[in-house]
Amino acid sequence: MTVPPSIVPPVALPAQATAATTTADGILRRQRARESSARTYARSFPIVPVRASGMTVEGTDGRRYLDCLSGAGTLALGHNHPVTLEAVRRTMDSGAPLHVLDLATPEKDDFTDALFATLPGGFADRARVHFCGPAGTDAVEAALKLTQTATGRSGLLAFTGAYHGMTAGALGVTGSVAVKERVAGGGAEVTRLPYPYAYRCPFGVGGDRGAGLAATYTERLLDDPAGGVVPPAAMIVEVVQGEGGAVPAPDDWLRTMRRLTSERGVPLIVDEVQTGVGRTGAFWAVEHSGITPDVLVLSKAIGGGLPMAVIVYDEKYDGWLPGAHTGTFRGNTLAMAAGAATLRFVSAEGLSERAAVVGARMTARLDSLRADLPAIGDVRGRGLMIGVELVDPEAPSDACGARPADAELAVRVRAACLDRGLIVELGGRFDATVRLLPPLTITDEQAEAVVDRLADAIATVSKDAAQGRQA
Ligand code: PMP
Repeated sequence: MTVPPSIVPPVALPAQATAATTTADGILRRQRARESSARTYARSFPIVPVRASGMTVEGTDGRRYLDCLSGAGTLALGHNHPVTLEAVRRTMDSGAPLHVLDLATPEKDDFTDALFATLPGGFADRARVHFCGPAGTDAVEAALKLTQTATGRSGLLAFTGAYHGMTAGALGVTGSVAVKERVAGGGAEVTRLPYPYAYRCPFGVGGDRGAGLAATYTERLLDDPAGGVVPPAAMIVEVVQGEGGAVPAPDDWLRTMRRLTSERGVPLIVDEVQTGVGRTGAFWAVEHSGITPDVLVLSKAIGGGLPMAVIVYDEKYDGWLPGAHTGTFRGNTLAMAAGAATLRFVSAEGLSERAAVVGARMTARLDSLRADLPAIGDVRGRGLMIGVELVDPEAPSDACGARPADAELAVRVRAACLDRGLIVELGGRFDATVRLLPPLTITDEQAEAVVDRLADAIATVSKDAAQGRQA
């Protein structure tokens, strides 16, 4: 596979900018003074990116970083890929309207063609697409409304560790207690089911047996006349939990969820906001298990780095009324063009297969480090969605062999990675999992460098922690 050279465009600074106002320190200081305390990534990465190309981000100070965050998994082709830049430039130069609500345009028509061409066989023939507001969370809202309208029911089945977004409905089906407990309505009509997580098995047994128990529990609960679960409008699930810490569901378990929902007439919503467009080693992550969802929720990479979100669903659910899920920003022409170009490029260049191969190699190398670095409790993932869970190596392990998550160590590892020119974010339970989401265009050398830098960061931080404990 050839990865075309990326183009680094010159950075145009605002006219009023002077050397003094553009230094990183000044910009960061003003950010701290003016932006919300709810800001997130900005706290973890005190850098001011001014240029980016492929996997590399350059700060105002000229320092270069390998970016394993990729806009939280958005940049399938990395930063400023020539294919997306060309699509954006061509569209801008064409005089096409850049904002059209949900009117038909040639760019939207072409994006829809490109999207439908990627869908699993059997799904595309019966698929309808709804263009949503440009965030993944809005598409989740749309999926919930669609299935609630179609079934006339309101309850939802969702999983431990799930992340579906920050708006009310999506937050309701999200697992994170910290973001729910301070706002109203976070738990309304949601039945929480166990997601298989071998390392921190909800049943304390792990492995295939844990996943089997998770499936059995779900089946029995749904059929228990005293189980408290009123027939639900939908089940919503991620094939690999992203924010949940790169936790992959076994294919068999997912097939069982498909069977259970089909048998009970419950629509299955698969949230592929993060797993889509080749990330997990298949174009769509549902392809690993071969299941056909009723609704697919898509965002992030489908817009080629520009904001876009859609749901694609079986036409039998298409009974909602005009305006049932509307919004101003549903017709971003540039995102349609960049997205269509990205989808076609990922398919044509076999980048899903590439993600599978490079991801497996990185995961195996990281896994082999566990013998020397006991702070690495678990290495898991699928394709280029990789998680390295950090634990306290001195603490006793539980029945599954898992030691307690070490959130403090993880924060220090993230900072040590940044010092070594590597951008990685944390996620998962207790935010103790280092998450790797590099672009699918990552070269072999970059993949090696990522593992080298991460391994060095973990080794150094673990050594310092051990010395601290002895002192
Ligand atoms: N679903 C999943 C699986 C996600 O990973 C995310 C974002 N990380 C969302 C939904 C929400 O997307 P957005 O942040 O664009 O609203």
